[in-house]
Amino acid sequence: MSELNLILLGPPGAGKGTQAEKLTEDFGLPYIGTGELLRRHKSEGTELGREAAGYMDNGDLVPDELVIRMILDEIEDKGRDGFLLDGYPRNLEQADALGEALEESGRSLTAALLIDADDETVIQRLSGRRQCRNGHVYHVLFNPPKNEGFCELDGTKLVQREDDKPETVKRRLKTYHEHTEPLIDYYEERGLLRRFDGTRDAGEVNDHIRATLAMLRLEERL
Ligand SMILES: [Zn+2]
Repeated sequence: MSELNLILLGPPGAGKGTQAEKLTEDFGLPYIGTGELLRRHKSEGTELGREAAGYMDNGDLVPDELVIRMILDEIEDKGRDGFLLDGYPRNLEQADALGEALEESGRSLTAALLIDADDETVIQRLSGRRQCRNGHVYHVLFNPPKNEGFCELDGTKLVQREDDKPETVKRRLKTYHEHTEPLIDYYEERGLLRRFDGTRDAGEVNDHIRATLAMLRLEERL
């Protein structure tokens, strides 16, 4: 069986999380989210986690080299058939560093999956999200609760997360356009980019991605 070594790209709110969940189910690939990975290392007090905590506690960014070591450990541990990497790389330097590290470990990327959406769609999707304290998510337009402002499952109050406030969303989009969007050309030049329309229905996007990955596997076998 050929490996599927994948990274996910795209603006916040394009549906990367939803697609990642479906893909890990469909293909049995381990999901590697760097935010989650850092938190886990930190809370488990691993050597890498303690090192990272030193930077985080000082308000500094965790160096790329350290994050990449965590990613490679994870791949070695669970990624025999491939992996789905989310949240890394976020800029060109990180993309280079990741490519080199993978090469050294005898692997290469199969594809960079871009789930794209325009700013207007992202702002509408994210700024309409409301969440209860138990993590149940609604949307004022697309999935409103029966009782406005309250969770249907536990009756607790719905609030807007800081991350979903329009000002925050606009700031996140700006960072994405400046630093992460150049990765689209980067992976396109290397023949690795696959584009998906994240403004479509999540099921449709998933079908499209699955068809693309099936094709990639076939091509590798030929
Ligand atoms: Zn709830």
